[in-house]
Amino acid sequence: MTTTFDQLGLSQPVLQALDMKGYNDPTPIQAQAIPAVLQGRDLLGIAQTGTGKTAAFMLPSIDRLREADNRIPFKSCRMLVLAPTRELATQIAQSAKDYGAMAGLKVQSIVGGTSVNKDRNKLHRGTDILVATPGRLLDLVDQKAFNLTGLEILVLDEADQMLDLGFIHALRRIHQLAPAERQTLFFSATMPKAIKDLVGNYCNDPVQVSVTPAATTAERVDQYLLMVQQDEKQALLEMILSGRHAVPGDLERVLIFTRTKHGADRVVKKLSQIGIPANAIHGNKSQPQRQRALDEFRRAKVPVLVATDVAARGIDIPGVSHVINYELPNVPEQYVHRIGRTARAGKDGIAIAFCAEDERAYLKDIQRNTDAEFERLPLPDNFRAVVEGVGPTKREPNQPMKRVNPRPKGGVRGGARGADRGERRGGERSGAPRTAEGGEQRTDRPRQKPNQKHASRAGKPKWQGERSGGESRGGENRSGNRGEQGQRRSNGDGGARRGNRGGSQRRSG
Ligand code: AMP
Repeated sequence: MTTTFDQLGLSQPVLQALDMKGYNDPTPIQAQAIPAVLQGRDLLGIAQTGTGKTAAFMLPSIDRLREADNRIPFKSCRMLVLAPTRELATQIAQSAKDYGAMAGLKVQSIVGGTSVNKDRNKLHRGTDILVATPGRLLDLVDQKAFNLTGLEILVLDEADQMLDLGFIHALRRIHQLAPAERQTLFFSATMPKAIKDLVGNYCNDPVQVSVTPAATTAERVDQYLLMVQQDEKQALLEMILSGRHAVPGDLERVLIFTRTKHGADRVVKKLSQIGIPANAIHGNKSQPQRQRALDEFRRAKVPVLVATDVAARGIDIPGVSHVINYELPNVPEQYVHRIGRTARAGKDGIAIAFCAEDERAYLKDIQRNTDAEFERLPLPDNFRAVVEGVGPTKREPNQPMKRVNPRPKGGVRGGARGADRGERRGGERSGAPRTAEGGEQRTDRPRQKPNQKHASRAGKPKWQGERSGGESRGGENRSGNRGEQGQRRSNGDGGARRGNRGGSQRRSG
């Protein structure tokens, strides 16, 4: 028998808000956690993002705050939610506002990379619910602009990520500042020893709720693998995104992971050069830039987002059809976090891993530690020839050479480049057999065959042919190089520049 929201003991205003959100049934973590939290128990939730854990802690907390009906404390809050990244904090605050719409509670959020003065002002009179990144919270505490004396409920979300980001000292300090008499709700996707120690400090006899065993690959994500040389990855990505190499599923919103910030920028730049609009999101981007990249991705205005792990943590973007691991993470748990960006809220998702020879060890680690099962996909026919700029990607045989249009229609166009790349790489594999087109013949790769599972859905990127070429490009850049600067200019968004404060962007909090 399935549990319903009304059976969990939630109040009418909260049930009404859920109705407005269109949630019919509680997710497993909600069904398990809500009754315990309503009773005032501490909670340890082992859950990945995408399981509905935000509502699992927020809904009963809203009811507890309403019931206690305490006054809003001066320069303090009644409920504090700590989150590792700015994006996640902003997202949780929005959920709190949605879920608490009928409850009349005041919700605020403070994150790094924005004006401290504004945060100081908005917290002067205190708030019911505060969502914060740890660094910014402690900045305000140090400035005596905020304290935790009024705290009734403390939530740590994505605690493992907070530790990875180096927030351990901040968390220890916050623990010391918080009143001992409080309720603590602690969430983490994984349970390494450091987290267990932290739980021991923070929680008092917590009810444990686990919806997926630690580091188990997200369900409902179909995982595919492409074995590809490191220097071929960009060409492969371009072929996939431009619909010249079919992969399972309709490409609606594609989230691409690189290991480094520089790598993310490079991928975006190269995609831009062939007319595929993409944004990068990573720690060197200012908060307005990050927010805009997310907004444009959400609205599918720029449906390709290239991210590093840190920036993409916990972000909830409905409708991510594909996660592409351009580079495999060296920590298996990270793989789980990455692919958890797709297949959220009951939807199917597709994850595609590009694995180069020197990443085989990472692949093995991922398979061993996460139960991930990959279906291997073939590379495009004559792929090496394409990479070297002499294959069918450049132009169809017997077709007259077309002039490259600097403002392509359809948002995506084939790259008439690659010759320079081919030159650079020409000597790298000189020993390999070559095809009639001059490319290498790959005898070790599976032949291209239509994918069975998603055969009907495999095809062109959804955005191809739907977008007008100039939509976000402004056509201002004749070279087709639409980096962050060009994009900013075309959008006339001076705010992005104002928000960039150099070093302060590096830390989430
Ligand atoms: P979270 O794990 O909290 O990031 O939630 C993942 C997604 O699931 C969010 O988009 C929520 O809006 C959505 N969600 C949460 N609870 C439910 C529910 N009971 N029914 C449908 N969607 C939900």
